[in-house]
Amino acid sequence: MASKNEELGGSSWKCLFPSSADGDHSYSQKSQPKSNPGRKLMAPLQSMDLEVQQREQDSQDVVCGICMDKVWDKPEAQRIFGILPNCTHAHCLGCLRTWRKSRQEFPLDVIKACPQCRVHSSYIIPHKFWVSKGAEKEQLIRNFKAWTSQIRCRFFMRRNGRCPFKSDCIYLHQLPDKAPASDPPCPESMQLASGSEVVTAGMWSRGGC
Ligand SMILES: [Zn+2]
Ligand SMILES: [Zn+2]
Ligand SMILES: [Zn+2]
Repeated sequence: MASKNEELGGSSWKCLFPSSADGDHSYSQKSQPKSNPGRKLMAPLQSMDLEVQQREQDSQDVVCGICMDKVWDKPEAQRIFGILPNCTHAHCLGCLRTWRKSRQEFPLDVIKACPQCRVHSSYIIPHKFWVSKGAEKEQLIRNFKAWTSQIRCRFFMRRNGRCPFKSDCIYLHQLPDKAPASDPPCPESMQLASGSEVVTAGMWSRGGC
């Protein structure tokens, strides 16, 4: 990103939001870049700015246990943590998903194990910031599950009510009333063959489709 804002000391976050200071409806939605989904999650409030800065600081030095790079140093599109609900090891979302995919042939408990401590986590939470434990993580897990529980499980639908992940699955096990053959109209999320994982980093707090 070459567009560093050189203005006096202020936070550059505010510049990402369209300002209606003109009192006129002169801004155009079309000129909005679409590539900053994570930022829209934060309300443009002063107190939020501080919180965001703190979260950034806490995330900046966290190293991925697979590629051993700092997740924060990745190109922006890959700068996403894959948070495992049952242990505190950090990984890039991309590394973790690739790692799990490469173990497709193994039993589920191997696929779903943390690469570092082997503790089983049936799903991965994509998150812009690093959250290791405590109340914040519990909240993150609750939010994530609340969101996924509204999305119909593709395995369950495709296999007529049978999902290989059974009660481990965090998606909605409910067949639609009238079953259309087409895919569910939710292009931003998809389930991987390896199980209940969501690819929609940064998008998941919008509450489904
Ligand atoms: Zn990595
Ligand atoms: Zn672990
Ligand atoms: Zn399922």
